[in-house]
Amino acid sequence: MGIAMENQPQQQQHKNFQLLQTSSEASSEADKKRWTLNDFDIGKPLGRGKFGHVYLAREKRSNHIVALKVLFKSQLKQSQVEHQLRREVEIQSHLRHPNILRLYGYFYDQKRVYLILEYAAKGELYKELQKCKYFSERRAATYIASLARALIYCHGKHVIHRDIKPENLLVGAQGELKIADFGWSVHTFNRRRTMCGTLDYLPPEMVESVEHDASVDIWSLGVLCFEFLYGMPPFEAKEHSDTYRRIVQVDLKFPAKPVVSLAAKDLISQMLVKDSSQRLPLKKVLEHGWIVQNADPSGVYKG
Ligand code: AMP
Repeated sequence: MGIAMENQPQQQQHKNFQLLQTSSEASSEADKKRWTLNDFDIGKPLGRGKFGHVYLAREKRSNHIVALKVLFKSQLKQSQVEHQLRREVEIQSHLRHPNILRLYGYFYDQKRVYLILEYAAKGELYKELQKCKYFSERRAATYIASLARALIYCHGKHVIHRDIKPENLLVGAQGELKIADFGWSVHTFNRRRTMCGTLDYLPPEMVESVEHDASVDIWSLGVLCFEFLYGMPPFEAKEHSDTYRRIVQVDLKFPAKPVVSLAAKDLISQMLVKDSSQRLPLKKVLEHGWIVQNADPSGVYKG
């Protein structure tokens, strides 16, 4: 699940993967060295996921602050996600966008794999949403616009994200959103309410396991917009089977509270369309009146 590369020849992927073993921006031969733990000063823990821990770290030579994600090979093996990690790491390392968390590189030792990630100083968006319960229209529109731009960029590179949801978003120092997952969040600790993963953000075609394309991300952006404004996803239900039914029927109901503008509801309704070819294209999302009127043109929510 998660970030997926369309039509990328397998050989190309492996070649690119090799490139990651050089330093982050290495272009010259001299720079082509492998990272080791000795290259970093390790700071405070930033959090933990199923396969290991994330630490604040400083690259000694450049003083660059990063987040170092430490994954245990044994756990990756046990969960059979090594191949997926490889693929996702490779895709993410080639994406360069202000709203996509950079992956600078990786290295490993006998027991662990280390991912060198951009540090998102303001942490998890999910926690912020829990704290506020729901976001203002200005804040939601600013976030949705920045994600629409990031997804347009991804789709332009034939990358479908497939796993847009609050748990996969981090916040940078300026308050800018960063898409942060490696697409294997399906296997990580579930930060939601249920024990076995959430269907809430899946579009009808993925719930029904029929073919899907980049427009799955438009659906998820619509679900996200709803959750930003109402504090819960639109098709939430106690039982998975009910969420499933509500998604495939597009059982979309807008609660009376909090009060949300008609324009926001119009945009959500145009993204949550069962026929994926009829969903509002992301470029049109950016031109929608609600986005134009509410999103901060700087792309950053300043509070
Ligand atoms: P994960 O294993 O990706 O679920 O990460 C575990 C936790 O570490 C997350 O919930 C965040 O709180 C934190 N974290 C992960 N990556 C970063 C990052 N790049 N910058 C700041 N905090 C992070």
